[in-house]
Amino acid sequence: MRISIVGTGYVGLVTGLSLASLGHKVICVDNDTKKVNKINNGESPFYEPDISELLKNMLLKKTFYATENLEESVLESEITIIAVGTPSVNDQIDLSFIEKATQQIGAALKEDNKYHVVAVKSTVLPGVTEQIVKPILEKYSQKKIGENIGLCMNPEFLREGSALEDALQPDRIVIGQADSRSGEEFAKIYSKFSCPKIFTNLWTAELIKYAANSLFATLISFANEISRISESTNKIDILDVWTGVHLDKRLSPVVGNKQIKPGMLNYILSGCGFGGSCFPKDIKALASFADHQKTEAKLIKSVIEVNKTQPHRMIVLLKKALGENLKGKRIAILGLTFKPNTDDIRESATFPIIEELISEGAKIICHDPMAYKKYIPTKLKILPINLAVSVNEALKNAEAAMVITGWDEYVKLTPQFFKKNMNKPIVIDGRRIYDKTVFTKAGIIYQGIGL
Ligand code: NAD
Repeated sequence: MRISIVGTGYVGLVTGLSLASLGHKVICVDNDTKKVNKINNGESPFYEPDISELLKNMLLKKTFYATENLEESVLESEITIIAVGTPSVNDQIDLSFIEKATQQIGAALKEDNKYHVVAVKSTVLPGVTEQIVKPILEKYSQKKIGENIGLCMNPEFLREGSALEDALQPDRIVIGQADSRSGEEFAKIYSKFSCPKIFTNLWTAELIKYAANSLFATLISFANEISRISESTNKIDILDVWTGVHLDKRLSPVVGNKQIKPGMLNYILSGCGFGGSCFPKDIKALASFADHQKTEAKLIKSVIEVNKTQPHRMIVLLKKALGENLKGKRIAILGLTFKPNTDDIRESATFPIIEELISEGAKIICHDPMAYKKYIPTKLKILPINLAVSVNEALKNAEAAMVITGWDEYVKLTPQFFKKNMNKPIVIDGRRIYDKTVFTKAGIIYQGIGL
């Protein structure tokens, strides 16, 4: 099928490449000229495992290209997917990119004589596709949804760091449809996938995405709240608590003779807080939607509150090890991205930690394997911090190392490495990636979340 995708960020590019690899002809549209040129030159604008190879392959096969020309792309395709950003502004969803993109798609469709399906893939609150996208599309195209145009809402569940794998082997495909013809036509793009396909109305598809994200975020905040209780006793290691909880067969079912560890358990672990481009903004948007609907959302609001204060636990642990006065102390921060295997630093738990350290007068040197490899993001440029080219450089003369992101490169670090590179090694483990006993025995002053 011929597919155009409007918005070529993480979701747009990954979706476009995976659909092209399934044999569709895909045009990815973006209004950022630099991004479009980069993509057409075979360079991914962001880091994601295996994406560069797939991009080069699809460009060579001529089943994929990027452009700024939205109108032409829409007219050359049968399906248009909207994958623009839906950021959070004052804790509310900002729909300006959705509205603008929909107007442009509608105006292009005015000139289209064939049946065309528009699908919203961006994460939008219940009601947005029907109450905002639909009237704009109808107004600008001067056509009727259900007659000459189809409309779907197709939430995306990919996770940065394993985005291609998630897009190519989805757990399920959710298709919210304005009418059955829209759903049927749109589902053809996924005909090669054998996973369950769920057809719902537009509103349900929208809430499925928010419910999924809120569930995982709730598990994380729950795990972090329990770790605070654990820390308050000075008697419990939270890792032992989660081992005991996870072994419940309802969480880790026994299949044959083997007890399996579902991926969900990774969310029932304590750390220094969740971040990223989705969880924080989506949970806040859902809470504000609940307010708008005049329904209580106490639990969802608490998830945000717990997460807001969790990074501060790292400062408490640092002071336990290094003393109350951080003025002039050189602190190494290991990890700027919100999770490993991505270069995305949006809403990373690192930033509230860095800001608190700055306000206490500490000197900060950061390391991350990916966050500033392609270019230095403005967010990092404006902070009074130094960026190290290696972990060794970050640790040199540092009085403490704080591990914020569980990169493999950090997981592999040994106590000997810290001892060799630091005068008096203090390690604050925000992801509990090190063995407390091994590190302590080796002479490291070790503190970790939930200890
Ligand atoms: P992004 O900010 O990385 O990309 C959005 C792109 O849209 C940008 O490149 C921007 O230049 C482009 N754009 C905006 N308006 C445009 C227009 N009128 N015409 C052409 N291009 C335009 O965003 P993202 O991370 O890819 O997220 C997109 C949506 O998908 C969001 O709603 C997000 O919540 C959702 N989502 C994201 C993820 C994720 O892991 N990033 C996962 C699932 C869902």
